[in-house]
Order: sequence, then C-alpha cells, then structure tokens
Amino acid sequence: MDRLEQTICALATPPGEGGIAVIRVSGPDAYPIVEKIFVPVRANRRVADAKGYTAMLGHYILRGEEMDETVALFYRTPHSYTGEDVIELSVHGGTAMADGLLEALVLAGAAPAGPGEFTRRALEHGKLSLTQAEAVMEVIGANGRQGAALAKSALDGRLAQRIGTIQTALQSLNAHLTAWVDYPEEDVPELSDAALTGTLALQKQELDDLIAGYGAGAVLRHGVDCVLLGRPNVGKSTLLNLLAGFDRAIVTPVAGTTRDIVEQAVQLGEIRLNLFDTAGVREVGADGDAIEAEGIRRSWKKLDEAGLVLAVFDAAQPLTESDLDIARRCQGRPALAILNKQDLAEDTEAARLQLQPYFKKVLTLCAKDAASLQPLSAAVAELLGTAKLDPRAGQLCSARQLAAATRARDALAEALRAEADGFGLDAVAVCLTDALQALCDLTGEDAADATIDEVFETFCVGK
Ligand code: GDP
Repeated sequence: MDRLEQTICALATPPGEGGIAVIRVSGPDAYPIVEKIFVPVRANRRVADAKGYTAMLGHYILRGEEMDETVALFYRTPHSYTGEDVIELSVHGGTAMADGLLEALVLAGAAPAGPGEFTRRALEHGKLSLTQAEAVMEVIGANGRQGAALAKSALDGRLAQRIGTIQTALQSLNAHLTAWVDYPEEDVPELSDAALTGTLALQKQELDDLIAGYGAGAVLRHGVDCVLLGRPNVGKSTLLNLLAGFDRAIVTPVAGTTRDIVEQAVQLGEIRLNLFDTAGVREVGADGDAIEAEGIRRSWKKLDEAGLVLAVFDAAQPLTESDLDIARRCQGRPALAILNKQDLAEDTEAARLQLQPYFKKVLTLCAKDAASLQPLSAAVAELLGTAKLDPRAGQLCSARQLAAATRARDALAEALRAEADGFGLDAVAVCLTDALQALCDLTGEDAADATIDEVFETFCVGK
C-alpha cells in the first residue's frame, strides 16, 4: 500500500512528564480508526459525524478496557496541518496513558509515524513549501529567542518570498532572452546590456546577502564553538566565570591550573557559546608537564574548528613572545583579542597596536567586572555578523538550501562574466537557466516549466 494511503499516529508532545500528552492521528482512515477506540461521554455523539474544528470529550479503550479521559480535536481535510483528516487526542501526561493510546490506535489499524512524517505529508499535500518544511524542523530545534524568530520567519514563508522575488526577476529576464534567441521572427523588444547586467548584478547581490546571512543565522540557531586562548594567568578562568555567571573554573593565582579543555555552554546576549577552556597555553620545554602539553595540543587542534576564538592577554604586562605566538595563530580566524586586567594597566595602547593586525577586533576590559559582559557581547555579535542580521527577513536555514543558493549565485557570477567577456546572449542564457534551476531546487519547483510558462504568457510566442 502507498504510504500516503496509510493512517499514521504519533506522540506530538515531548515524551516524559507533563500536564497533557497529545497524540496526532492523520490519514484517510483517521475517523474510522479513532471511532473504534474512542467513546464519547455523550451517547448521541459520533466521531464519524464530527465536523472540523470541533472537540469532543470521552475516554479511550484498550483491549476492551476503559482507559484515560480523552479530549478529541477534529480537523477535516484539507483544513489540517497535513492536509489530511487529522484528529488530535489529548490524554493525561506521563508516558503510561499516551503509550496505551498509541497501542490502541495501532491495534485499530494506524501505523506509527516515521520521523518528520506529518510534515512530509504537509509538503506532499501542498500545505507547506519545501523551505517551510525545513523551517519546521528548525523551529523545533532552535536555540534562543532570536534563533526561533529566525526559523519562524522561514516557516511563515518569508524565505520563500525572498527567493520568489529573485526567481521572478530572473525568470522574466530568462523569458526575454529565450524569446529573443529562439524566436527571432517574433517582435520581441531588444534587451539593453545595462538592463541585463543590472538585473543580474542586483539578484546576485541578494543571493550574496542570503548566503552571508546563513553563517550568522546558524550561529543564532545553534550557537558557536568558542575557544578561549591565552597564557597562564592572563584571566581565562576569570573570563569564563564571568560568562558562566558562577565559579565554574577554579581561579588561582598559580600558573597552569586549568589542565583540560572544559566544555560548557553559556549564553552571551543572543548567542550561545559552546566554550572550550584551555590548558594555559605556553611553551613546554623538556621538563614540561606531559599532561599540560597534551592539553595545549588539543587546544590548538580545537582552534581549527572554532567558530569564535577569544584570545586573552594581560594588559598589565608587556606582551610576551608567547602572546605574539598566540596572536599569530589567530590571524585569519574569527578571533577577538581581549586585553584583560584593564584596571591594573596604565597604558593599553601599545599592546592594542601590536595585536590589531592579527585580530578582527581588540577589546580592552576587566574580566572581574560584570559590566564587561555588555561590550563583549556587542563585539562578538558584530564579529559573527549576528548584529546586523534581521531575523524576520527570512534566511536560509539548512545546508541543502545554502548549497542550492550558492550554486545559483555562482551561475549568476558566471552569467555576468559571460556578458562582460562578450560571449553573447546564448552563453548568458545558459548560465541563467542554471541559476534558475538551482533556485527551483531550493524551493522544490520545476524550473523548465516556469520559464516556458512565462515565455508564452509574456511574449505571446506562437499565438
Ligand atoms: P588563567 O590562568 O588565564 O585562567 O587566569 P585566571 O583567571 O586564573 O586569573 C589569574 C589571576 O588574575 C587571578 O588572580 C585573577 O583574579 C586575576 N584576574 C583576572 N582577571 C582580572 C582583571 O580583570 N583584573 C584584575 N585585577 N585581576 C584579574
């Protein structure tokens, strides 16, 4: 049997303790299946007759036995999340009653739903676009308020709108080119070079913006892996405690107490930092401590994977060769230099100038002072691009979308090159078709059909 012909059921609320548990049933036999296991309180009511958007109180039955009190909420196709007949059954929370209900439903003929299957069905029935379906998964997994807003904007279709605007512009350009190249006998108006490159460049810029926003969006949704670097005693543990809000790392005035990479997630403004504290980074001589050397090796390794590097320096002392070694390793990375112990320093300018070439930004602060959190948070948001990201504008939210958008952008860059190098409109049209195909892959439509439709609608070719 085709999977869509089956009626599926699953727990819709998180498993475990809770006030209520909701089980969702969706598919062509949702009503007959629920009818078998649900007994309404009022004897004259029948599940089969229930209208959409109504509720019914009753209880469910498992193997002939009366079980928990149950509220049934009815949705009729196509006015439901999946577009199918859907019934949501609420029972008391905790796993026992929900498990019993699922068992009853399966005995009555429903199949347990696979991961994401309700959303998959919503997609199949045209209730959601592909980008919206992906956004559902992101909303469920989003971290933090802004991350959730971001995923929700894709769910609302704002990403689809943004892509749609690009598609419309490129499609009309492509239709124009196609009509001009393929139907020379028709009276198709000529396209100026300026209009052609103007549209291509504008839409490429829009794709560039979307692609640039992806990294920042991912940071808001999932946080960023952050490495804390610095010589012993510069104040890394103190900074970690400031971020964490309590004495998580042991702070001592003795060099080299932080031996291992401490993993901890802290929230800095809108961004979750997945922190890796480091063993005090210093050169280890022949008499060096073996465990510490291992810690240092791991810190350097982590540096390659980090989305954010916080390198701490002691502003109260001149920078040492080890400090500069650390600074050099930060070059070209998403790294922020923190000149700590501002309160003890007389002049921080010399150190700032020395560090500046290796970092995106140098921040002077005092890790012992809670007021340092705000400038630190602002600097990190700026460095990671989250500060200027509008979470409500609709952003790419999966690696698949990013790959498709990147293909489209590269094809437009290629089209602009072809135009600039004088390869003719045929070559431009080929690149444009590639770009449109990539965008249609992104949204899950068929590119060729869309262009052909427009050729005929706009230019009345073959009338
Ligand atoms: P780590 O080895 O890099 O983790 O350094 P710690 O966090 O253990 O700090 C070393 C010493 O510097 C401790 O005595 C801290 O209290 C002190 N310290 C850290 N940050 C500051 C600061 O901003 N101002 C002052 N005055 N002392 C600090």
